[in-house]
Amino acid sequence: MESIMHHAWQRGFRCLPRTSALLSRSHSSCAEHATNPASASSRHVTPTLLVSRLYQPSNLRDVGQDSRLPGEMTCKSQRLMQQAGLIHPSSPGCYYYLPATVRSMEKLVRLIDQEMQGIGGQKLDMPSLCSAELWKSSERWDLMGKELFRLKDRHGADYCLGPTHEEAVTTLVAHQTTLSYRQLPLLLYQITRKFRDEPKPRFGLLRGREFYMKDMYSFDVNEEAAYQTYESVCQAYTRLFSRLGLRCVQVQADTGNIGGKLSHEFQLPADIGEDRLLVCGSCSFSANVETVSAGRTDCPQCKTGTLVESKGIEVGHTFYLGTKYSHIFNATFSNAQNKPTIAEMGCYGLGVTRILAAAIEVMSTEEGIRWPGLLAPYQVCVVPPKKGSKVDEAAGLAEELVHTFGETLPCLRGEVVLDDRTNMTIGKRLKDASRLGYPYVVVIGQAALEEIPRFEVICQQTGEMMFLSKDGLVDLLGRVETV
Ligand SMILES: [Zn+2]
Repeated sequence: MESIMHHAWQRGFRCLPRTSALLSRSHSSCAEHATNPASASSRHVTPTLLVSRLYQPSNLRDVGQDSRLPGEMTCKSQRLMQQAGLIHPSSPGCYYYLPATVRSMEKLVRLIDQEMQGIGGQKLDMPSLCSAELWKSSERWDLMGKELFRLKDRHGADYCLGPTHEEAVTTLVAHQTTLSYRQLPLLLYQITRKFRDEPKPRFGLLRGREFYMKDMYSFDVNEEAAYQTYESVCQAYTRLFSRLGLRCVQVQADTGNIGGKLSHEFQLPADIGEDRLLVCGSCSFSANVETVSAGRTDCPQCKTGTLVESKGIEVGHTFYLGTKYSHIFNATFSNAQNKPTIAEMGCYGLGVTRILAAAIEVMSTEEGIRWPGLLAPYQVCVVPPKKGSKVDEAAGLAEELVHTFGETLPCLRGEVVLDDRTNMTIGKRLKDASRLGYPYVVVIGQAALEEIPRFEVICQQTGEMMFLSKDGLVDLLGRVETV
């Protein structure tokens, strides 16, 4: 112990006098706060968010196709997201997620949390660095081939960066020797970065090598209970996509290298989709072409309808696993007779970053991003007049509006930005606002000079435009749903 202290002293503690000076300074400022509560936490005044200060590296101006950036722009969502300063490429299939994207992702994560916890899901976080031993037990160390990112530690032990966590979660549950049937179903999920060594990363966040995924794993007492859990997860997925306003089809799918007996994909129909689907024109049947015998055009479900092919982006996947993993890792619970019994499992994925990009892909115009309302990074952009213009005398109304929204509309806390670049014309700033896709844009124009000022409101999702008084605005924006 003594020698450790001695080394610590020699290495770093020599600057102790300076450190303690710093400490005492910060201590005295704490004391000031304590005697002056108004300056500390008692008042929550959110500072006005100014467009000129938001970190969006394209600077909201035309960047076109920047030839210095790695990777070509292969689809609409990638192009729009790069141009708007939402993402920035680093290496093939890897991106910086810039602040607006992170805001949007955090909203999506909150929505997913609500839906998963609504069916009893409990959130945990498992290591991304996964030991090869686990993957060898399930034989997927070899089965996964080159898709698995592999690495060695300093002792020569093999690891992979987890693309999915069936092995990890099953061994975790197997370690709990006291698990009782009364505690089932057990639904554990995480939302973490996943890694996959894609042969051809493309389409921006739609097919990357590093991405966010929600993966949930269920443990049930028997097959029947496991099917019920499977069904409740599918319903939660359907609710999630409907809250996002995304048309999503649930299709029968192949179980691939995950294994198991039953599997569905959740697909967003889109031209650039890489999955081919067969959808019946007469009934609800839809399937991935991989699961339907080649050349078949008549519907296997209603027998009368014709199958039509369309393309889709896979945004979710569910698998009924049975005892494939629980058997290997001996994940058991004690049943009503107190006998150890192998648990029945399911696993359920949602591509978090992929949902974000896919939503932008299917909802946007060629010129600008359109978000699912709940996921827009900011809900409202207020555009004051150009400096020196005829309307300039009404400029103060902009700040006043932002202030009013902040005071009276809790749903819009942190959701309103002010486009303070008043050296630019309103038209130019509206073009930027359209590109970024704020659901509501409020313009301080001519009508703001009237006796009772009115403001132009552009609802970018519907393309509607109207003039409203301040009260009308508060009424409209008070109904905006945020998460
Ligand atoms: Zn049919």
